[in-house]
Amino acid sequence: MADAPTASQCEQAPRGRPHVRGIDIMRDPNLNKGLAFSLRERQVLGLHGLLPPALLDQDHQVFQVMQNFYRWNDDLDRYIYVMALQDRNEKLFYKVVTQYVELMMPVIYTPTVGLACQKYGMIFRKPRGLFITIHDRGHVSDILYNWPVDDVKAIVVTDGERILGLGDLGAYGMGIPVGKLSLYTALAGVKPHQCLPITLDVGTDNQTLLTDPLYIGLKQKRERGPAYDDLVDEFMEAVVERYGKNCLIQFEDFGNANAFRLLDKYRGSYCSFNDDIQGTAAVAVAGILASVKITGKALVDQKFVFQGAGEASIGIAMLLVKALQKQGLSHDEAVSKICMVDSRGLITKNRPKGGVTAHKAHFAQVRDPIDTLEEVVAIVKPTCIIGAAAVPGAFSEQILKAMADFNDRPIVFALSNPTSKAECTAEQAYTFTNGRAVFASGSPFKAVTVGGQTFQPGQGNNAYIFPGVGLAAIVCDIRNITEEIFLHAAERLSELVTKEHLSEGRVYPPLSAIREVSTSIAVAVSEFAYKAGLALLQPEPKDKRAAITERQYCTEYADFVPPVWDWPAGQS
Ligand code: NAD
Repeated sequence: MADAPTASQCEQAPRGRPHVRGIDIMRDPNLNKGLAFSLRERQVLGLHGLLPPALLDQDHQVFQVMQNFYRWNDDLDRYIYVMALQDRNEKLFYKVVTQYVELMMPVIYTPTVGLACQKYGMIFRKPRGLFITIHDRGHVSDILYNWPVDDVKAIVVTDGERILGLGDLGAYGMGIPVGKLSLYTALAGVKPHQCLPITLDVGTDNQTLLTDPLYIGLKQKRERGPAYDDLVDEFMEAVVERYGKNCLIQFEDFGNANAFRLLDKYRGSYCSFNDDIQGTAAVAVAGILASVKITGKALVDQKFVFQGAGEASIGIAMLLVKALQKQGLSHDEAVSKICMVDSRGLITKNRPKGGVTAHKAHFAQVRDPIDTLEEVVAIVKPTCIIGAAAVPGAFSEQILKAMADFNDRPIVFALSNPTSKAECTAEQAYTFTNGRAVFASGSPFKAVTVGGQTFQPGQGNNAYIFPGVGLAAIVCDIRNITEEIFLHAAERLSELVTKEHLSEGRVYPPLSAIREVSTSIAVAVSEFAYKAGLALLQPEPKDKRAAITERQYCTEYADFVPPVWDWPAGQS
């Protein structure tokens, strides 16, 4: 259950009369309260008669929303229903999401958001962000000025090339920035009007979409040349011009080649980060730090095998190296603990030139090539396997049993999304290791009972990390989101996993606690950022937690018209 908002949070809710009247108030999702408008508000604001006479407070409205929510059998229908609520009554939407966060997260984010993206053309109703196309070069700033809000603080941008593990969905990728920014508000309390989802539509190489008459994006092959780079450069500059240097830009679901390039290009000069690389890294490293508390084997004694060597795996491996170095290993010693397997087998120094990108080369082993994951596992005997290649079933029964043969408590992270792409299910992980696996996944799995013991699989959801990091950046004016920031966020997250959680097999706090987790991470990141000279807000708040919570969004309705003073009887 989310923390109740504090009085100071509610202080920030808009007070006084709205700038519009009558039905226009109810058409504005920021102002609409539905049947919760008081009689006096209805009379003064010109709403009287536009609503049935009953008054329903927000708690009853939440109950009613949930009754409707449960009526749908299909997750996509639930997604459409809650998104319509967001378009109708924003405070009620966020109240529902924060109160029923475990139920709502798989609907507004993975795995359902993947389904929603695939059908985005069918479910698109009204703008909830900006579409900037490759043909808008030279005019990107004008488009940003079409967005009606002046104090945007967080942008999530995608070019739709690698949506979850679903590949190129072009303009349909918009579901991802929309969903991620909903989480910024629901989990970290960033105000919704300060969040702006953006899709850079540079075409798509998805043939099905190109031939679909209902496709809502540009019907052309994906632009990959200098024009692409010019568009992204112009976009970055236009954001700074419109919203300032401290507007956070989160890159989301870009294809592998662009993701690394753009991260390297912009990381020092813009307030930006790539969630698929850096956010994933932090959440996975947090899970590993918690896992070693269960296995009893120190981090420096682990051996890691990654299935996949893309954004997620390389990002995790890079941050793991930092974590290992912090615990005393040299850089080379840390790198030697990590093996990576891509579609062509183990990444080794002697693979033919050109076959390994610079990022992969960093983790190339001095070994003879090994072709399959099964062989790599059998030869390397890792303590931890991490899957992020979107190859379903890659962690076969044979691999899981082998892991259980040479580890007392094997660590198995099947991170590929959505659920259909997972390397193994939670049930397989626990069953084939006789309940000894320490398991986490990218998409949620239900609890599993093996040998009479019930395990709660952890979900290595990036949502544990990016809202808190983003909140700290926004509140404390952190403009350079460094690797150290992500390592601090990871460490803080792992510290929030209690002994009770560990005893249930959890390596992350339960999702029900995720709002408090985000706030704690924001506090930890801001404390570190001030120490490291990265936070520019002055004077430095003494009480970081108070500074952060005071700025969080409040889901309670504002009183637009104060209630009439009730005179004591006989004195009117
Ligand atoms: P990516 O495209 O950057 O990388 C995929 C990698 O898989 C590439 O290195 C590719 O060579 C490799 N690969 C493809 N086929 C393979 C095979 N048969 N065997 C071995 N390797 C193979 O994608 P990414 O951003 O790294 O994401 C990968 C998966 O991880 C996706 O499903 C994504 O949803 C998931 N992911 C999960 C989380 C999370 O759980 N928090 C976060 C980010 C990404």
